[in-house]
Amino acid sequence: MAQYEDLRRALEQQREQLQAELAEINSQTNSGMGYRNHQADDGTIAFEQAANLAVRQNAERLLYQIERALTRMEEGTYGICRECGGEIDPARLRAIPYTRYCMDCARRHEET
Ligand SMILES: [Zn+2]
Repeated sequence: MAQYEDLRRALEQQREQLQAELAEINSQTNSGMGYRNHQADDGTIAFEQAANLAVRQNAERLLYQIERALTRMEEGTYGICRECGGEIDPARLRAIPYTRYCMDCARRHEET
């Protein structure tokens, strides 16, 4: 799959960034809670935890999609729409390297 070498590098880079981001979020969640409890009221803490959770869930979902895309590259099924089996437009792959659907199918599902 030599034609996807650039995309593979981009995906691997993005994966590293996300892993670093998740490690950062996890360390924030685990540390500092003890002393912050004395300063912030419960509402603020709940808000921070919810915000952290949302960021983490987004990052985890994206990371999962990136890992799936890299697996498809290994298997040779990368760039093929999982819905209709058609080829995904290379321009679309460059914009969203981890997409599983061609433009038409993505529009129907309203997801990438
Ligand atoms: Zn399709």
